Amino acid sequence: AKRAGAGRFLFFAEEMEDELREKAVFKVRLRSAIESGEIVPFYQPLVDLRSRRLVGMEVLARWRHPERGILPPSDFIAHAEHGGLIGPLFQGLLRQACRDAMRWPDGLKIAVNLAPRQLQDASIAGCVLDVLSETGFSPLRLELEVTETGIVRDLGTAKKVLAMLRAAGIRIALDDFGTGYASLRMVKELAVDRLKIDRSFVVALASAPESGRYVSAIIGLARALGLATTAEGIEDTASAKRIGAMGCDLGQGYYFGRPSPAAALTEWMEQAER
Ligand code: C2E
Ligand code: CA
Ligand code: CA
Ligand code: CA
Repeated sequence: AKRAGAGRFLFFAEEMEDELREKAVFKVRLRSAIESGEIVPFYQPLVDLRSRRLVGMEVLARWRHPERGILPPSDFIAHAEHGGLIGPLFQGLLRQACRDAMRWPDGLKIAVNLAPRQLQDASIAGCVLDVLSETGFSPLRLELEVTETGIVRDLGTAKKVLAMLRAAGIRIALDDFGTGYASLRMVKELAVDRLKIDRSFVVALASAPESGRYVSAIIGLARALGLATTAEGIEDTASAKRIGAMGCDLGQGYYFGRPSPAAALTEWMEQAER
């Protein structure tokens, strides 16, 4: 039994080694993908629920992999975050998004996601401002989306980072609102501008009508605090109408449009120009 145990241990050790090697190989591959521009922004419409006009786009990362096709963020964002590559990934994406958006009608804003870890690094504000001055994109057209996870870890640094960004005129949205913990404390501690109501609440509307109370409660809370709201994951006309009637400002979801590459947005841009 002892020998078998030792064999088992050896087997695990080898497996762990394989896993570490695989991770290291992936990291090298991801780094080269970032450097060679394989990580690209896709854009999903943000729509005013009252006027149904396009007001901006959320930037969602995709990996245009030469062999494997277009990979979703769940395949690489966490690796980038844990492998120390999220900074360069973010900067490349933001730069590309600012360049694209410079060609869009002036009023349209972009919303870019920050990974939890980026809120614990005070240099992020400088990095954002560098890209803005390099591209000439106005900070007033930029919103950054953060989640509670990043804030809870180190509230002091997160507060400092967000204050610097807001001082430059950049707006901050609290993403996936309602799913994290200590939500209200975060809203109170950080001067955020917008709550994004998590898709899970919106999805529930169709199947469990009483969940409308939660959506409505979040909108009421935001109103009382003077914050704007966006509902994510709107997939049908009934939800769009209902959430709009509840007083939510913006909507996002497959009903309005799926995340698409810049080249596929011309129709949206023509509409926005009118
Ligand atoms: P998120 O920030 O909550 O982004 C919304 C996600 O919901 C996107 O998934 C979007 O495609 C999806 N979605 C939008 N409308 C609908 C809908 O009507 N139905 C359904 N079923 N899904 C909808 P995606 O693009 O796969 O991104 C997943 C997550 O990956 C994002 O969630 C965000 O947390 C993260 N992510 C994406 N891009 C970046 C990035 O550049 N940086 C960082 N740090 N995270 C990113
Ligand atoms: Ca987001
Ligand atoms: Ca979200
Ligand atoms: Ca979400």
